[in-house]
Amino acid sequence: MNSSARGVFIDRDGTLIEEVGYLDRVERVALYPWSIDAIRALNRTGLRVVLVSNQSGVARGFFTEAVVEEVHHRIAALLDAGGARIDAYYYCPHHPDGKIERYAQRCDCRKPSRGLVDRAARELGIDPARSFVVGDRWLDVQLARAVGAQGLLVRTGYGVTEESKRPAGVEADAIVNNLIEAVSWILLAM
Ligand SMILES: [Mg+2]
Ligand SMILES: [Zn+2]
Repeated sequence: MNSSARGVFIDRDGTLIEEVGYLDRVERVALYPWSIDAIRALNRTGLRVVLVSNQSGVARGFFTEAVVEEVHHRIAALLDAGGARIDAYYYCPHHPDGKIERYAQRCDCRKPSRGLVDRAARELGIDPARSFVVGDRWLDVQLARAVGAQGLLVRTGYGVTEESKRPAGVEADAIVNNLIEAVSWILLAM
């Protein structure tokens, strides 16, 4: 597959859906009020929309991968009801200090490492260097830097306090209030 498509890599918790701590039950999934409009606007442009999420709660034994999958099915159903679609869902279940042995590892997919983006790029034919990353933590911006994408920080979720805790040497391409503002910025930047 050629790698010519552009994509938007979107963080899940605190960016697409409300940050609720470790999301261990599907009943706790709540899209932000603008999330459907934001994703639908991206769908119309032909950009690939990819979810990339750290779910260390799996490694910590707080919930299973089946719960993560169930949450993603719920998100897909909520989006679908509004005519919006995420093209693919990727997550990292690992953590070096995890309790569950097979997930307790240093991996290449826990953001800000680039493994999830590389997998998506391969499977969906995306060129990360022509793409965007949106998230509520500096690690999402660091991921953007790692893959040569443009990185946007949103002020939802942890983004409320992240803005004042910028790590040295990390610069966002934009800091915006929420996902719909991020999408507006992306559409103007294309
Ligand atoms: Mg987040
Ligand atoms: Zn991982």
